[in-house]
Amino acid sequence: MKIYISVDMEGVCGTTSWDDVTKGKADYPEFQRQVTQEVIAACEGALSAGATEIVVNDAHDTARNLIAADLPEKTQLIRGWSYHPYMMMQELDTSFDAALCIGYHSFAGSGGSTLAHTMATRIASITFNNQPVSEFLISSYIAALEQVPLVFISGDQEICDHAMEIIPGIETVAVKSGIGRSTINIHPQTACERIRNSVQKALSGTLPPDRFDLPEKYAINVSYKNPADAYKAAFYPGVEQISPTTVKFETSDYFEVLRLFLFIL
Ligand SMILES: [Zn+2]
Repeated sequence: MKIYISVDMEGVCGTTSWDDVTKGKADYPEFQRQVTQEVIAACEGALSAGATEIVVNDAHDTARNLIAADLPEKTQLIRGWSYHPYMMMQELDTSFDAALCIGYHSFAGSGGSTLAHTMATRIASITFNNQPVSEFLISSYIAALEQVPLVFISGDQEICDHAMEIIPGIETVAVKSGIGRSTINIHPQTACERIRNSVQKALSGTLPPDRFDLPEKYAINVSYKNPADAYKAAFYPGVEQISPTTVKFETSDYFEVLRLFLFIL
């Protein structure tokens, strides 16, 4: 069984301030250890369910966060950004049996996390067909495109609720919830224990159907905080600026959505 793990950091237990997730800041090493521990827990759960190969994609900021030597030996680690349009799901293909998301967080414009955003902090919001777009949604559609079932997410409570709306039956572990400028967290070791158990459960027995139906059309709106970003984005072929801060784009091909995001987010 070959497993893919996409890893972010703003949804890791305890992370509350940007200092917690920014390399070089004094608070970062504590949460670098925690994100690594949560990935180890997911790997252990996968291995006890029968995984023979695990590819871990470090997909937060510099994409150089995880402490590689601490991961189980059966893992391969993707560090840095290739700038393939699959971004947080780089190298995912049909050879994988299942995908997992660790440390994922609430979407731009939502109140469920002190670190809520979608892809870049200069984005105010993104919608597909008037529905809010999270990084989880983007990743889940990539998994669907490659016919790989996405079976597990850990992160804040709101992104777990959002994931269950997109993929009913997905296993979730909420490690914290965001209240105003605070977070309420379970204990870091409890987070790891729950991730280990839930990943094992998600990968045991029959895996769910390998895909859900992708939308037939994508009417995409991207709103920026700064109007200058919308002005620039409007030069991408097919993009139309509809307000000082918002652009829109329409396509029926999800890969074209990803190509757009690579250049305008
Ligand atoms: Zn991140």
